[in-house]
Amino acid sequence: MTDARFVPVLVLPEDVSGAITVVVRGGEVMVVDEHPDDVAPEALRHVVGTLDGAGCWVIDLDADATATVDLDAMVPLMGLYGRVDDLRWTLAGRAVQLVEWDRTTRFCGRCGSGTDPTPGERSRRCGACGLLAFPRLAPAVIALIERDGEALLARGRAFPVPMYSCVAGFVEPGETLEETVRREVREEVGVVLGDVRYVQSQPWPFPHSLMLGFEAQWASGDIVVDGVEIVDAHWYRPDALPMIPPGMSIARSLIDRWLAREAAK
Ligand SMILES: [Zn+2]
Repeated sequence: MTDARFVPVLVLPEDVSGAITVVVRGGEVMVVDEHPDDVAPEALRHVVGTLDGAGCWVIDLDADATATVDLDAMVPLMGLYGRVDDLRWTLAGRAVQLVEWDRTTRFCGRCGSGTDPTPGERSRRCGACGLLAFPRLAPAVIALIERDGEALLARGRAFPVPMYSCVAGFVEPGETLEETVRREVREEVGVVLGDVRYVQSQPWPFPHSLMLGFEAQWASGDIVVDGVEIVDAHWYRPDALPMIPPGMSIARSLIDRWLAREAAK
């Protein structure tokens, strides 16, 4: 076991060496190896944690704010992937979610009064009624479904390109993760699953999901797409795949794991 390279903290230790600042403005982001005082001293900032011993901050810039860095180089978080190393991309994802949480919890969701940061934890507390607001996470499942050397891949209505991926959906209150997998797959592509097994997870900050990846075996039923979330789905063999998701996603990781299993047969 090695120590984690990123450590989330609220207060930086005395001995940080170096500084990394995630700059957020609207829906765009950039990561610079500079202290926030040297980027935009007036900007609202939060400590995110430490990365390889360097202090990490996020600053939230107003649309008309100025900074010492080239703000024209800012890109949406998705577009930052591949332009910085994976740890910095993940750091930017955390940072964007913290800023989004801070922007959306300045007033209490119960009584409408103002909130303030709670000392010692990542939450904001209502000054009038005491309600706490924590950073929000929406758990979602995603499943690679197998049947006799083929995988079920589906095209979502929301995909901007004709890409085929694993079936995914949000967890409903009261469900186990396995129940969510079975329900989403039945609803979206009409098939009934046998074994369902958890494999891995991935933070997915678009805007605040936590993706939980599963491998599942087909049990019965023909593909019937719902036409709402899913517009097309088929069983695919490894040698005849459609366009699949890029390497950053857990969907691609699940597909690659299946391809490796098939190649080893
Ligand atoms: Zn309140």
